Amino acid sequence: MPFTTDAPAAGSETMSFLDQDHQLLIDGQWIPAESGKTFEVKNPADGSTLTSVAEGDRADIDKAVAAARKAFEDGPWSRMTASERGKLIWKLADLMDQHVEQFAEIEALDNGKPKSVAAVADVPLAIDLFRYMAGWATKIEGNTIPISVPYLPGAEFHSYTLREPVGVVGQIIPWNFPLLMAAWKLGPALATGCTIVLKVAEETPMSALRLGQLIQEAGFPPGVVNIVTGFGETAGAALAAHPDVDKIAFTGSTEVGKLIVKAAGETNLKKVTLELGGKSPNIILPDADLPAAIAGAANAIFFNHGQCCCAGSRLFVHRTQFDEVVEGVAAQAKEIKLGPGMHPETGMGPMVSQIQQDRVCSYLESGFREGAQAVVGGKRDACSGYFVEPTILVDTKPNMQVIQEEIFGPVVAAVPFDDPDELIATANDSIYGLAAAVWTKDISKGHRIARQLKAGTVWVNCYNIFDASLPFGGYKQSGWGREMGHEAVDLYTQTKAVTVQLH
Ligand code: ADP
Repeated sequence: MPFTTDAPAAGSETMSFLDQDHQLLIDGQWIPAESGKTFEVKNPADGSTLTSVAEGDRADIDKAVAAARKAFEDGPWSRMTASERGKLIWKLADLMDQHVEQFAEIEALDNGKPKSVAAVADVPLAIDLFRYMAGWATKIEGNTIPISVPYLPGAEFHSYTLREPVGVVGQIIPWNFPLLMAAWKLGPALATGCTIVLKVAEETPMSALRLGQLIQEAGFPPGVVNIVTGFGETAGAALAAHPDVDKIAFTGSTEVGKLIVKAAGETNLKKVTLELGGKSPNIILPDADLPAAIAGAANAIFFNHGQCCCAGSRLFVHRTQFDEVVEGVAAQAKEIKLGPGMHPETGMGPMVSQIQQDRVCSYLESGFREGAQAVVGGKRDACSGYFVEPTILVDTKPNMQVIQEEIFGPVVAAVPFDDPDELIATANDSIYGLAAAVWTKDISKGHRIARQLKAGTVWVNCYNIFDASLPFGGYKQSGWGREMGHEAVDLYTQTKAVTVQLH
């Protein structure tokens, strides 16, 4: 049952920010939506209205893209040195560092996650990402290439590649890590010299709007970062289909990812990167350090209320240890205190929205209809917030929806296995391939299984380890391309081959 005691209020800096008029950041100005429309932003812990923000749609996306194009082609941004770009990104990180508490409060109120978690995970990771990418600005290099040209014997050439920014980038982000997702997207785009139209999730627009203020304070030229709040079917779809956008970077559901690809294909074949859903297997082998694996399995699914695309939502445990592990994870689930993100004792906040709460519960109901049992949890919490109990399902079958589909909530299906060799095929039996983990004391086995798992990230004896330098993204229908690391930087540049004939 969630806390009945009131959560402490947010600090005055956060409250006065929420009280402001929240407009769109276009061409360096905060302006209302062309339609004049706004929409309400809810606090998911109690369903109350936090504030309202401008509802941007196609007309505003058009303006934002025009501003980004102008900044890319003519503005001071395109003439800035790589070092100057890097310094600006670093300055943004420094400004964020001065507001860690405020960002954590905004995430707690807007997304529902515990403030204590946002303060040590989301916000520092976002800051670190910007610092990592600031360093890349001066390290984007081409090659010199010795060429032979068989049809021009004796001719001499000097060939080299230039790595140029892709151009105007549309970025569409989800609500599960609002600030961090904005950082993952903006960081490499800024490092490479692109300009950006960022469409934030309608459920959680607030931290990106605060970030927009700091982007201005840091001194980025107008039009380099444009931020549009609005809905997916209107603003998001307009951005994905815009003929003057050179690339779309999207994080969200696989279903919407396919719409983005279609929109890109039907318009200007803009480049597309996608970070999509997952149904990640978490494998505990018989020789694992069991207490560590149990704690890791709980963290794998309950961190961020299971609203992680890499959540360890399929837990495979050897039959001889199955009951012990399930009991251990269940004991941890029972310890988790549900409550508002602002309460210092909260271990798990609400789902981000009523829609998400309903979606998770309808998956639970489908599992129960098909014969699955909940060892712990299994239902929504009867209060005004959008809470769902941490849940462990057993007695599932491979074809059930709860095994095949992404639930995006605090629900793990625990499945026993007998033969570790057959297990790999079962673990890989998914349309997704975002992340996976294996727990074992046998180092060779750990490395071998890491090679066999079809996933963009594999953790051995750990889970949810992220770093700005580690590429993150999916095999199969979990996506195209990678976030973070130098791979993300590559994906915001394109290569030009230049050949000079020497006379
Ligand atoms: P969820 O269903 O969990 O909210 P989505 O994939 O729908 O995840 O949302 C992720 C992001 O995609 C959000 O910013 C949302 O507004 C946006 N979005 C949703 N539908 C579309 C669409 N048809 N075109 C472009 N963006 C969309």
